[in-house]
Amino acid sequence: MNLNIGVIKGDGIGPEIVTEAMKVLDRTAKIYGHTCDYTQLLLGGASIDVHGVPLTDETIAGAKKCDAVLMGSIGGDAKTSPWYQLEPSKRPEAGLLAIRKALNLFANLRPAILYDELKGACPLKEEITEGGFDLMIMRELTGGLYFGERKTVTEDGVLTAYDSLTYNENEIRRIAKRAFDIAMKRGKKVTSVDKANVLDSSRLWRKVVEEVAIDYPEVSLTHMLVDNCAMQLVKNPKQFDVVLTENMFGDILSDEASMVTGSIGMLASASLNETKFGLYEPSGGSAPDIAGKGIANPIATILSAAMMLRFSFDLDKEADAIESAVAKVLKEGYRTIDIMSEGKTQVGTAEMGDLIASHLA
Ligand code: NAD
Repeated sequence: MNLNIGVIKGDGIGPEIVTEAMKVLDRTAKIYGHTCDYTQLLLGGASIDVHGVPLTDETIAGAKKCDAVLMGSIGGDAKTSPWYQLEPSKRPEAGLLAIRKALNLFANLRPAILYDELKGACPLKEEITEGGFDLMIMRELTGGLYFGERKTVTEDGVLTAYDSLTYNENEIRRIAKRAFDIAMKRGKKVTSVDKANVLDSSRLWRKVVEEVAIDYPEVSLTHMLVDNCAMQLVKNPKQFDVVLTENMFGDILSDEASMVTGSIGMLASASLNETKFGLYEPSGGSAPDIAGKGIANPIATILSAAMMLRFSFDLDKEADAIESAVAKVLKEGYRTIDIMSEGKTQVGTAEMGDLIASHLA
């Protein structure tokens, strides 16, 4: 298969970590008989330096021609970088929001995996984390409270603010389908999280999710109230496979779930649209404090590339190979500085990429 991949290296550590992910992708392609065609695309600070704006029509058109886009990270140090002298709509992060919108990326996937080898970084008790856990938060990204009508008015002399939380059945159905599709590739379990005891939008959410579930008889569906879910994530994270939820609940729960796994350098993510297309990127930022030092952890980007193979190209075997190479390298005791602990072997960004590539087969 020929994989037509857009690459946004981005700013800060972006180029370093994406280079390692491409190294692992190339090695995987070679082993399994595929070819990778990369199209380099500019976004964020790197685009401002060349074009004066963080996102161009050329980048949007280039991304649309690809089957998937692998991205590093965008942005710089707000105190020292000249990019932040520009008005907010011209700064690096504006490009990121605009490209997500232009590509209609409505589903955000954030896996939270606790590797047994890294459980020391997990703030939960050992009896809870024994054996590790592996769950996926699927958050609706383009609707709900963050996109609803809002206003601040004075009513009877009192300042009053309104935010509206709106979902229509089509928006709920399309993300529910993606969640069930993804559960079919994993543990075949969906926990749909809402606040149906209070909110109308949640009652509609629950109704539509139940309708979608009928087409997936192999997947078990449970509903959970968001307040309970926040507790269950720290009490018993092993119970979850795919957690499906709306925008604001997902914003909060995905950060909670990722915190219990330890380092930001390990957290992959994907944003998907209605087709197989996706934008795959590490959850962390451009880490300007360590950029250019060769010490950034490339694992989140490498795991994002594995998600790309699984969800945009349906190459599950290849994705499994990358994920198990990461696990093997960790088991052998190799660590970048952010996940380093006593008795382990510290390696840099490129060495970690080499190790993972060499453990693929
Ligand atoms: P950050 O995630 O870049 O850094 C927070 C801390 O985590 C830093 O100490 C950094 O060194 C460390 N870190 C992050 N990724 C790491 C990795 N792979 N390996 C080792 N350590 C890592 O967050 P920040 O400092 O708040 O933001 C820096 C810039 O990144 C800002 O311009 C911000 O807007 C941008 N940002 C971009 C994205 C994105 O591209 N999606 C996301 C978040 C922040």
